[in-house]
This record gives sequence, structure tokens and C-alpha cells, in this order.
Amino acid sequence: MTLQQIFSLVFLSLINFGNPHSSKPSTAVRKAPNVILLIGDGMGHSQLSSALYYGQEEPNYLRFPVVGLSRTSSSSHKITDSAAGATAFSCGVKTYNGAIGMGPDSTALPTILETLEDQSWQSGLIATSSITHATPASFYGHVKLRKQEFDLAEQLITSRVDFFAGGGKRFFFRRLDEKNLMPAIESNNLLLDTLKLSAKNWQEGKRYGYLLAEDGLPPVEEGRGDFLREATNLALDYFKSQGAPFFLVVEGSQIDWGGHANEGDYLVSEMLDFDRAIGAALDFAEKDGNTLVIVTADHECGGFALKASTKKVPFRGEVNDYDSLRYSFGTDGHTGAMVPVLAYGPQAEKFGGIYQNNTIYEKIISAIKGL
Ligand SMILES: [Zn+2]
Repeated sequence: MTLQQIFSLVFLSLINFGNPHSSKPSTAVRKAPNVILLIGDGMGHSQLSSALYYGQEEPNYLRFPVVGLSRTSSSSHKITDSAAGATAFSCGVKTYNGAIGMGPDSTALPTILETLEDQSWQSGLIATSSITHATPASFYGHVKLRKQEFDLAEQLITSRVDFFAGGGKRFFFRRLDEKNLMPAIESNNLLLDTLKLSAKNWQEGKRYGYLLAEDGLPPVEEGRGDFLREATNLALDYFKSQGAPFFLVVEGSQIDWGGHANEGDYLVSEMLDFDRAIGAALDFAEKDGNTLVIVTADHECGGFALKASTKKVPFRGEVNDYDSLRYSFGTDGHTGAMVPVLAYGPQAEKFGGIYQNNTIYEKIISAIKGL
């Protein structure tokens, strides 16, 4: 061993065990990691793969070191909807299609976001649908049926979600019951912006909400711009300013809508948009060093495939051209296919393997606890 190697060893042990003259404990206290959960609604393997062929550059999701598969069936159906799918992540149980934050017997269950808020965590939700839509709502709401979006708007106001961005203004301000929600918005420390995402001088103790469309936001193809990535960066800026660990959910809501509509260009443009938000999350996590990033889907939608175009060949007629892709759809609904799970950061290895969707909840909790 050279002198330099001996010096390096001594130096490393000082880093690992601290300065013996310091009053600090000699072993570092583990800080719980931040968690960013990105949900591509309706994003099966072909949707994910489409970004390999139709993007301008390599997809950001190729940066994930850990891959798993999630089994998506709900308690009531082989094929889940987004409400049961998101409730599996948020409450850790499989429930019936349509349920938001409720178990199979329609009792309200605490969501992961509520549990973490009890422990002084910060929380945020971002979606390109209305913020009262099934996926985001399953993290703060408790209703028997997903269509109760007016009830969910009220529940969001009184929830402890610190930051949210999406659409759904009409469920707050053009209500069928004509209720004025402004007094509740003010008394719950919520600052609402209905015009644009804008950086703020973040105030302590205030919650920030951005409602930027009457219902869902417009598709990327119709001018949504870079909303999903920008909202993700804005949320991360907010959380950093407040200091406490955070749990952020980002949903690429309209990958699903492209699937339902059987419109390949719609679906793929939403997939590429979602991948840009994934890039923002990974950039933050790489710099921060203590952030767990998980990408998954609630279910596949559309029976989407990237199949070969055909070409005419003399004497053989029409044959597959394996060098030319085209979109194909098998259904205008969801399918029962397993969906991908990608993970990066502290305890990411927990997300390798094949498992039920509701165990993603347990994996996140145990990663936070460091178990
Ligand atoms: Zn759907």
C-alpha cells in the first residue's frame, strides 16, 4: 500500500464516520428521499416504445436503470379503469372500477399523500386532464364514483395538497349547485391562478393551485405547449423553497385519450410530451441525489401496436415492410396487458420484478422508510 493509498483510506474514514471532535452524531441520519411518481395514463409497452421511433432524440426514459412489470386488474374487473388503477397506487389496495380513494366496500382509505402530509411532507399533483379527473383525484379524494368531480373540487380545496396544476376550472367556478367556493379557497390558504403557470415569490404556509382550462387542457397538437415539463419544474422549485421532503405525482393524462380515440399521432405526441416531464424529474433527481423517480401506467389503452407497413413486391403481392412502421389499434378501450414500471434513485431496485399494481404503494412506503 502506498502512502497515498493510506492517506485516501484515512480521509475516507473521516468522511464516513464524521469528525470525532464534532458534537454531531458519528453516523449520518438517513434523510427520507423525495418521491416523484409519473403516471402515463394508458401507457403500455408500445406507447412507451413509440418514443424510440417518433421523437427527435433519444427518450429520457432510457436513463432508468430498473424495470418492472405491473399487473393491472382491479378488484371488480380483469381490465381496470383509471380510478381503480390510481387508487391501487395511492391507497395500496385493489378496488372496484370507478372508486376514488375508497376500498372495495366503499370505505374511504387514507392515501399515501395524506399519510405523508401527516408527517409534514409536502405534496403536489400535476395533470393534463382536469385536476379532479380520476388519476390525480385518487391521491386526495374519496368518492364512490369518479364522475363526482364537483365533490372532488371541494375535497381538493380542503385537502393538504400544497401544489397542483391542471385543468378543471368549471368544477370550481361553474358549478351545477352554484356554490361559491372562493371563501373556502381563501380560508384554506390556497392561492389560485387561472391564467398561466408563473414563478412566484413562494410564501411559506401558502398552497399554490393552477387551473388552466375549463376541463382537460388542450392536446399538445392543439397548442398546450410545454405545460407538463414546465409545471413539473415549477413544482420542484416550490418544494425546494420550502425544504421538507415531497411527494409529487405527474400524470400524462392524454396518452390514454389518444388510445381511446384510436389516433396514433395524438397518442404519440402525448407520449413524447410525457417523456419531457420524465426528463425534468430525472434531471432534478440526478442533481439532488436523494429523490426516487418512478414511471408507470395505470393500464394500457387502445391495444396499440407499432406494426409494419405493407409494400407490393413483384410476384409476391403485398408483404410486410419491416422497415416502415404504422399505428394499429385493437380496441377503443383499455386492455388487460401488464404495464412497465421504471425506477431511479434510492431503493429503485425494489421496483424490479413482476407484481400487482397495489404493491407499488408498499414499495414506495418502504423506500421512504429505508426498509
Ligand atoms: Zn381511459
